[in-house]
Amino acid sequence: MYHLIFVVKIKNNMRVCILGNGLASLTLAKSIVNQKIYVDFLYSKKTYPVNKTRTIGISKSNIEFFNEKIINIEKIIHKLKKIEIYSDNLEKQKLISFGNNSDHLFSIVKNHKLQQILEKNLFNNRYFTKTNYKKTINYSRDYDLVITTDYNHPITKKYFNKKIEKKYNSVAYTTIIKHDKIANNIAAQIFTKNGPLAFLPISEYETSVVYSINNYLKGEIEITKLIKYYNLKYNLKKIDKIHSFELKGLSLRSYFHKNILAFGDLLHRIHPLAGQGFNMTIRDIKFLNNIIQNKIDLGLPIDSKLNIEFENNQKHKNYIFSSGIDLIHQFFNLERKTKNEFLSKSIQYFNKNSSINKIFTKIADEGLLF
Ligand SMILES: Cc1cc2nc3c(=O)[nH]c(=O)nc-3n(C[C@H](O)[C@H](O)[C@H](O)COP(=O)(O)OP(=O)(O)OC[C@H]3O[C@@H](n4cnc5c(N)ncnc54)[C@H](O)[C@@H]3O)c2cc1C
Repeated sequence: MYHLIFVVKIKNNMRVCILGNGLASLTLAKSIVNQKIYVDFLYSKKTYPVNKTRTIGISKSNIEFFNEKIINIEKIIHKLKKIEIYSDNLEKQKLISFGNNSDHLFSIVKNHKLQQILEKNLFNNRYFTKTNYKKTINYSRDYDLVITTDYNHPITKKYFNKKIEKKYNSVAYTTIIKHDKIANNIAAQIFTKNGPLAFLPISEYETSVVYSINNYLKGEIEITKLIKYYNLKYNLKKIDKIHSFELKGLSLRSYFHKNILAFGDLLHRIHPLAGQGFNMTIRDIKFLNNIIQNKIDLGLPIDSKLNIEFENNQKHKNYIFSSGIDLIHQFFNLERKTKNEFLSKSIQYFNKNSSINKIFTKIADEGLLF
């Protein structure tokens, strides 16, 4: 005897509210409207100047997810085949390298270009509405789910103020250098005595620079001089305006309150030395996307239960991952302070072990492997 099972798809009137206007909120909004769920995108009137020197490195598996489930960004990314790590302590010798010359490992994209492509697409989407914050909204009553990425919104201040904070005592300086044409697909990170300095290629003619410098050196140094000093391979033509950011790390103690979920850098902010902050958010979106799809398939509502599932699965992974990045930061700080070559020499030793190298490459690409 056969049992016929009918799965009835209920009409989808679900409505999600997203607070904030950064890369995390736009990417998340696009992934949700792709699932044919209405999104009200609420932002404050306050605008911030566009910083055209900011770039983001996105791992290979996250680019694949982005292209398939969010929006195709192939046209605006620059693909890298290798990442090489150097140390001042060993007189700019190579410590370790990830990737080989044949495969694509990481991609670099300009923040404002990613923001533009997402906004342009969302504004033409019938599931998407963008409005200013209104005082009259009752977030628990008017929406199935509210997701906040905005540090300054009253809801964030009320429900998400308990966090573990980490002071790096560092400032990140970012700029773009223009140079002669070069086959530019190898990124370099140098652990200098002032802090980590990354050269991240964005085209054959341009490379983004992120230099995280320890606070006590602020003002005493000229960043352009240091960039020139550490520049290993580019024939420089111009160094763009230099922007700076105070670096802080944080992990929220609780990811949600009832049907309100925190997201993006508001949930977890880490040191940029490994280029993983936004990659963590993409992994969060991947998981959220899966739970939403499962609920839709089963005809279940999207509500606070989804937040419980999200926190149970992602919180410990994100915490361990962030702690791993902090450990790398402390590790090189210690080496810098003690001027001891032992740590760098041990990394060079690990570099010769291809299975350890493969594990690190996989974690940087896909996150924790459990
Ligand atoms: C120097 C640097 C390099 C980085 N490199 C990488 C990388 O290579 N790979 C990677 O994965 N991650 C990287 N990151 C992390 C990545 O930039 C963040 O994870 C990501 O931009 C966070 O997006 P968000 O929308 O959550 O936060 P935000 O962009 O901070 O936005 C959150 C909220 O703040 C508001 N906001 C926007 N601009 C401002 C402003 N200027 N002042 C105050 N509020 C504002 C927005 O409206 C929004 O509501 C880097 C970070 C830094 C600082």
